[in-house]
Amino acid sequence: MQSKKTITILGSTGSIGKSTLDVLARHPEAYSIHALTASGQVDLMLSQCARFRPAVAVMAREDAGRMLADKVKAEGLPVEVRWGAAALDEVASAVEVDAVMAAIVGAAGLSPCLAAARAGKRLLLANKEALVVGGEVFLTAVREGGATLLPIDSEHSAIFQSLPEDPRAWSRRVHKIILTASGGPFRERDPSTLKDVTPEQACSHPNWVMGRKISVDSATMMNKALEVIEARYLFGMSPDQLEVVIHPQSVIHSMVQYKDHSVVAQLGTPDMRVPIAYGLSWPERMISGAAALDFHALAAMTFEATDSQGHPERFPGLHLAWETLKGVPGSCAVLNAANEVAVAAFLNREIRFDQIHAVNRSTLDAWAGPEPHNLSDLYELDRRARETATAKLAQQSA
Ligand code: NAD
Ligand code: MG
Repeated sequence: MQSKKTITILGSTGSIGKSTLDVLARHPEAYSIHALTASGQVDLMLSQCARFRPAVAVMAREDAGRMLADKVKAEGLPVEVRWGAAALDEVASAVEVDAVMAAIVGAAGLSPCLAAARAGKRLLLANKEALVVGGEVFLTAVREGGATLLPIDSEHSAIFQSLPEDPRAWSRRVHKIILTASGGPFRERDPSTLKDVTPEQACSHPNWVMGRKISVDSATMMNKALEVIEARYLFGMSPDQLEVVIHPQSVIHSMVQYKDHSVVAQLGTPDMRVPIAYGLSWPERMISGAAALDFHALAAMTFEATDSQGHPERFPGLHLAWETLKGVPGSCAVLNAANEVAVAAFLNREIRFDQIHAVNRSTLDAWAGPEPHNLSDLYELDRRARETATAKLAQQSA
């Protein structure tokens, strides 16, 4: 019998974190949990500790950590409670850990991702913003640490499953990568009414149930822009080899077109437990809990260009992926920082939906370098870009 694999889940209280626990619960003989981490959801973390018995629970926020420690003690649970950024890095790189699920939202997940990469872990990456911000610094840490970086984002898992097993063949055989996009909740909405969209409307996605930040990103298509950048780094393609097509049913999760124009795609029901299970079990397969695709019940699979209704202004943010990939080094990280600030402001009802793009655009326009070379450069760039975006925000809401 093989020994159990030990996992840390960064962001266990979120949408991806909970789906990961659901998959792991189906395979108790194969996995044990070293650490669960969250930002501030104390009661949910307490119930996860009671059910999954991790060795360690980490809260990013100190107040939440202290509160959790009291509750864990009161319930007599054998779980060590810690808090703060250093503790996140430690549970991501601890010697007893085999795999790390990176499911924190935003650039906040970068540091523990890099810690896991440097420690040579199997790094299951849902946290796309960490790779968008980290770029080459992230890839260098993976290479130097001897880590295995596996995509969890459904599109990137699909691409990974459609590529040859040997990455050395990718550049030789692949013509382009085609990412599918559902088009989000506003695919058919009159673009002139996008200014009236509420956070509740933006967060109700037609095919996927997700955290609030990625739901807003899906509605603006900034999620797809971040995914184009993510694909560039994961698969080493040039920006011109990356294409996006709208596929409203979310059945084809993405495709690889080879040099002979043969296309290989991965299909399935829209359920994140499939890419999560694949990342955990790769190169093997295991039960995920997702329903099987029923081709007899599938009415149609349709495709549209991203500006197909003649309204390129519906998704103005999508284009920023190629612009930043070809632009001044560091632009991708600036775009991510601006977008995090703008989305938080929209969810807080400080700016309108259509102003998210205005903040991103004007923050990018104000960026002129220098190129980031290491983690401290990236933190400085992220801090400065957030400062600029916050100033642009004030101009928008004035
Ligand atoms: P979520 O908001 O549901 O969960 C985020 C998790 O991160 C929570 O556990 C939260 O406590 C933790 N967290 C938030 N801020 C933190 C901080 N500053 N420090 C430490 N921890 C913090 O988000 P989600 O939908 O699960 O998405 C997580 C990541 O996975 C995102 O990067 C998202 O783009 C990506 N992703 C999600 C989906 C999906 O279906 N939800 C699909 C593909 C990719
Ligand atoms: Mg995705």
